[in-house]
Amino acid sequence: MFEWGPLLQPDLVLGDSILGLTPDIIRQHQLSGLILDVDETLVPFRQSDPMADVKQWADRVKASVAIVLVSNNLNQVRIRRIATALDVPYFTAAGKPSRRKLRQAAAILDRPPHQIGMVGDRLFTDVLAGNRIGMFTILVDPMVDPLAANPKKCVRNFEIWLSARLGVTLKALS
Ligand SMILES: [Mg+2]
Repeated sequence: MFEWGPLLQPDLVLGDSILGLTPDIIRQHQLSGLILDVDETLVPFRQSDPMADVKQWADRVKASVAIVLVSNNLNQVRIRRIATALDVPYFTAAGKPSRRKLRQAAAILDRPPHQIGMVGDRLFTDVLAGNRIGMFTILVDPMVDPLAANPKKCVRNFEIWLSARLGVTLKALS
């Protein structure tokens, strides 16, 4: 029987939003490029402007590694606006867990997959896609708007429940 567990297992469970991904952690894992999911990894759903702390985070991290955004979102205008604010290249409509746009992003980063951190808030899209091409996968806590209803929360919780049944360990290393 095909084993899903290993493909869904993040290499690192951050136990924090992306703001907790420090240059030190990136260095410890010998990563030289990052591919970032957008929705709920960098910005809450429906927001088109990264918060000031996310911009500061990106500036700090970009001093040591290159960043590319890869989003499943179809709204090119919104994702471009976020990428422009952070001054990084981007791909939309990625269809993760498809590997296609991750490969294109890796080509921009010009690094082998194991030196690239694939960072996202979802197991069945971000982590699965990254693991499928041998990237170092990092699961972050979702960046949510505390004032908005969050339709994806149930899906994410279901994914976490199902992954645990498949043998995935999601205990944060801290
Ligand atoms: Mg996401």
